[in-house]
Amino acid sequence: MLSQFITIRFFDIVDILLVALMLYQLYYLLKGTVAFNIFLGISMVIVLYLVVKMLQMKLLTSILGTLLGGGAIAFIILFQQEIRRFLVILGSRYFPNKSFTFESFLRKQEEPYTVRIDSIHKACVDMAVTNTGALIVIQRTSSLDLFVETGDVLNANVSSRLIEAIFMKNGPLHDGAIIVENNKVKAARCVLPFTNNRELPPYFGMRHRAGLGISENTDAFVIIVSEERGEISIAEKGELSQGIGPDELKFLLKKKFGRSE
Ligand code: ATP
Ligand code: MG
Repeated sequence: MLSQFITIRFFDIVDILLVALMLYQLYYLLKGTVAFNIFLGISMVIVLYLVVKMLQMKLLTSILGTLLGGGAIAFIILFQQEIRRFLVILGSRYFPNKSFTFESFLRKQEEPYTVRIDSIHKACVDMAVTNTGALIVIQRTSSLDLFVETGDVLNANVSSRLIEAIFMKNGPLHDGAIIVENNKVKAARCVLPFTNNRELPPYFGMRHRAGLGISENTDAFVIIVSEERGEISIAEKGELSQGIGPDELKFLLKKKFGRSE
């Protein structure tokens, strides 16, 4: 009886499943960021538009319709940077190699990380002892090219002396973050996105907020050395752990990036 009124085709189910999957992916990528609130706001306007359209409230329908029509262009212009980052993250999630080539697609993935963890470890421990502020972002599968662009490109071999020299107080490169990819310091003075997390203790300033921010947006492993407290923290997947001792840092680096050199 019911089937006379409602007919559900196979592709309707596929349609619904695909939309659900898309919404889930979007939620996963945006949660905890400002973009998520914007996404919620826009979703509410769309739902409202559909409801008033269904109820045939003509004036409101036309106002909201115009808003949504023009809004799409305004949205792209306003959130150009975020959309770019979103697409880069999406791309690097499914094609972890930095640039997608057919050859690399066919070839078996090589050992991905050859990070010089002993050098990074020594530099962090030394800088904590001397109360030198530092922000080190170690790349994993997500591309960090967008953030490398914001700083001074170095492409220098990682060594503890290099890292300590970069972060030396009053040095020309000490401001901002360094980005490490495999055994290279790709860039220094990089600007990272701040976290939107409101539950952070007040003594976490810009350095910690930037470190946590990049860990929310990418799968990078972030080490933060506090200038004020001489303390090491790490940020990963939007979680910040403070008071990391030298042994724990060594353990974590080994666990994340395999062998030491
Ligand atoms: P500390 O415990 O070392 O004082 P903090 O979390 O209190 O760290 P601030 O004292 O605000 O942070 O640190 C300021 C420094 O953070 C700046 O000098 C700069 O090097 C760095 N910083 C600020 N904003 C950013 C950003 N968006 N990206 C990268 N680094 C940043
Ligand atoms: Mg501070």
